[in-house]
Amino acid sequence: MSSAAVDARSDDGVRTWLDSCGIGSDVELFPVNQVHGSTVIHAAASLTEPPADADGLWTETPSNALVVRVADCAPVWILAEGDRTAFALVHAGWKGVAAGIIEAAVNALAGASTPVTGQQAPAPWKSAGSLTAAIGPHLRPCCFEVGPEVAALYASVPGALQPASALRAQRMRPDGVSLDLSRAIIARFEGCGVSAESVSVATACTRCNPALLHSYRRNGAGGPLMAAVGLLQR
Ligand SMILES: [Zn+2]
Repeated sequence: MSSAAVDARSDDGVRTWLDSCGIGSDVELFPVNQVHGSTVIHAAASLTEPPADADGLWTETPSNALVVRVADCAPVWILAEGDRTAFALVHAGWKGVAAGIIEAAVNALAGASTPVTGQQAPAPWKSAGSLTAAIGPHLRPCCFEVGPEVAALYASVPGALQPASALRAQRMRPDGVSLDLSRAIIARFEGCGVSAESVSVATACTRCNPALLHSYRRNGAGGPLMAAVGLLQR
């Protein structure tokens, strides 16, 4: 994942950053047009230009670099190992998580027919229990104030909502509460049969770390953005 030294709004910016990491031009980038939805597409040569509306990608091809942009939402890397090895990268904010982006990615890796869109699904995956995942830096409960309409989406998720006293950032609304996005994401994984122990969580808050990370809540609309990239190594 790129740091605040990179503005990943353009593919050229991402490519320059990858070059600096020693990832050469033989790697093919697969970006998507993120819409805070639940669509996960197969990174394949037939992807459209401009990029399709989606918030996640998956691949079984090591030279395919999956790319999402984030600036408070969480990048989530998901690795499936077994008879077949495959990998997904997801852009997960409160809206996409509520819409089912985590389930869509797990289903894509599992070879299920729905709700994957785009390419034909592969052979069935053995078990969702063989998945491991990592949740990257995102807006943490110290800064993730949400109103009642968002809180209602997560009211049934244990630990996802915390009282306003958990917020260290200046309050934006009198009826706001704190959202623990990673807890909400983990709950979605657990619903897919993936244990919480299989999901790692980065504890850095994007808004609280200006020297290291970009943040939409801190910087406002228009960026900059961080890039999250996933490559499948064999
Ligand atoms: Zn914070």
